Amino acid sequence: MNQDIRSNKTTEIATQLPLMEAFDTIQGEGYHSGKAAYFIRLGGCDVGCHWCDVKESWDADAHTYLSVRDIVDQVPKKRDLVVITGGEPLMWNLDDLTKELKKRGKKIHLETSGAYTVSGRWDWFCLSPKKRKLPVKEAYALANELKIIVYNNSDFKFAVNEGQKVSDECKLLLQPEWSRRDKVMPNIIDFVKKYPQWVISLQTHKYIGAP
Ligand code: SF4
Repeated sequence: MNQDIRSNKTTEIATQLPLMEAFDTIQGEGYHSGKAAYFIRLGGCDVGCHWCDVKESWDADAHTYLSVRDIVDQVPKKRDLVVITGGEPLMWNLDDLTKELKKRGKKIHLETSGAYTVSGRWDWFCLSPKKRKLPVKEAYALANELKIIVYNNSDFKFAVNEGQKVSDECKLLLQPEWSRRDKVMPNIIDFVKKYPQWVISLQTHKYIGAP
């Protein structure tokens, strides 16, 4: 890997990024669930969630490094909404990427664990904190949406704690970890009935067979 382009420092601009995949689909989860969106999935993540469903993203070098221009050129003209996901996209400085997408008039959403310094300019900041590597302070302040993945009961306490760190306007969502959805859903329902400021997020793309 070219060390010059990998950065969590806002002073360095990533001119190339490891692109794992990019595809036009429906945003399946979270506050914007159901909207048509073009997804750009960047490689690289060292957070290490044991239940991660995109482990093949972890090794950035397993993916092809492309210039920001080449990545942005692939975005269909007709698609207004672009979602940047990973992996952990904030392992990279995303100033250039968001600048190029903005030039083309796109709305840009980020999906991040928040574990790295924030770069880029975002129309929507979806923060999904992970216990193994908590978000940086700035990520809580920027979050428009806090999405907690529920794998077991300890995640409810985690959700309450993390919910206290975001702004009052931030949307609060609980999402069952896919492999445990049947097991944890009754407790998620009970939690949301007790704390109605939280809402349920489902991975609807997996139910409808969208990527
Ligand atoms: Fe997987 Fe996301 Fe956790 Fe990284 S932060 S290990 S990509 S679930």
